[in-house]
Amino acid sequence: MIDPSDYGIDNLPFGIISDEGHALKRPAVAFEDKVVDLDALVHSGRLDAESLLGAATLNDFLAEGPAVWRAVRARLRHLLSAAANDDERGAVAKAMLPRDAVTMHLPIAVGDYVDFYSSLEHATNVGRILRPGAEPLPPNYRHVPIGYHGRSGTVVVSGTPVRRPHGQVKAADAAAPSFGPTAMLDVELEMGWIAGPGSVHGEPIPADAVREHVFGYVLLNDWSARDIQAWEYQPLGPFLAKSFATSISPWIVTLDALDPFRAAEPQRDPEPLPYLQSRESWAYDVELQMLLQTERMRTHGHPPLTVARTNLRGMYWTLAQQLAHVTSNGAHLRPGDLFGTGTISGADPGTEGSLLELTRRGANRIALPGGETRGFLEDGDTVVIRGRAVRGAARVGFGELSGTVVG
Ligand code: CA
Repeated sequence: MIDPSDYGIDNLPFGIISDEGHALKRPAVAFEDKVVDLDALVHSGRLDAESLLGAATLNDFLAEGPAVWRAVRARLRHLLSAAANDDERGAVAKAMLPRDAVTMHLPIAVGDYVDFYSSLEHATNVGRILRPGAEPLPPNYRHVPIGYHGRSGTVVVSGTPVRRPHGQVKAADAAAPSFGPTAMLDVELEMGWIAGPGSVHGEPIPADAVREHVFGYVLLNDWSARDIQAWEYQPLGPFLAKSFATSISPWIVTLDALDPFRAAEPQRDPEPLPYLQSRESWAYDVELQMLLQTERMRTHGHPPLTVARTNLRGMYWTLAQQLAHVTSNGAHLRPGDLFGTGTISGADPGTEGSLLELTRRGANRIALPGGETRGFLEDGDTVVIRGRAVRGAARVGFGELSGTVVG
């Protein structure tokens, strides 16, 4: 669903498009109900940005760094404003396409992919479900931003079908494991931030260097097979239960566009180690929504049902801490590296970002229009994640991220 108010002049998110008339992939920004073809704009001489010319991904642009990102965005804001002269307006009109006429592609060639676990509420909910009666949070949680390195090659753009993975599972009462399709396919409502221009191997990045190293955010769905995960995850953590697919939204919303929506960080006790402290606050007020539509709902004309509403604001660890932590050992960043926030959950019912939490591991099935219920996902189910930052009249949207399960 296209909502033009998501993509006003204050947003201008970057993506990669193609269209029927011009099959080559090329960069664009979304503007209201249109897209502006940046390759065409550079060709016209109205935008000076070599790294966007004929670019099938945004990686070369990400490598340029924040001064160029900002200059391009400022130039685009001028070209799309009333201050543009007739020649500029003509060039912009020629570079514009209706948004529903373009195909969206993965905006970056994903370098390394890391997924964090930065929602204290999510970690607490999961601990309570999987280890009832025990202390839900692991002892390291309030000290170290926990994460793992994922599989960048299976990051896909919104709209890409997700094939139900096969894997090795073992029920608690079974004598031996078996191999077959997962019976506990789940989603994780997350956001992801994208790195550029990269850093030097061996040189940690301070927490305060966010603006120099982070281009922007996307919506992210970390598809998860809970039964495979439960059997394989000890002692090394997530592996094949996560690596079959990770979906991201096609438009990258820049940190500059998100700046008006920064919020106070949550209280932390104990105080984080010095390398995890930043002078500025790096929490963002982004409203998130997860919806579910089964094949039968689609056939019978039922719209997707909202199953969760949550907000990025409450995350225990911010991107500044994730940035500092992931490079604290000297590991460097490359343009196009992707960092998932971890499942974004609240403490209240209906604010959880996974079916594992929403249904208490399948025990409390979700009732759907038409009489169906769901504990985990079935083939033909479509999951949609929407995100939007709103403050007064200011509004910046992420659009939506969708994926349908196929058998
Ligand atoms: Ca995750």
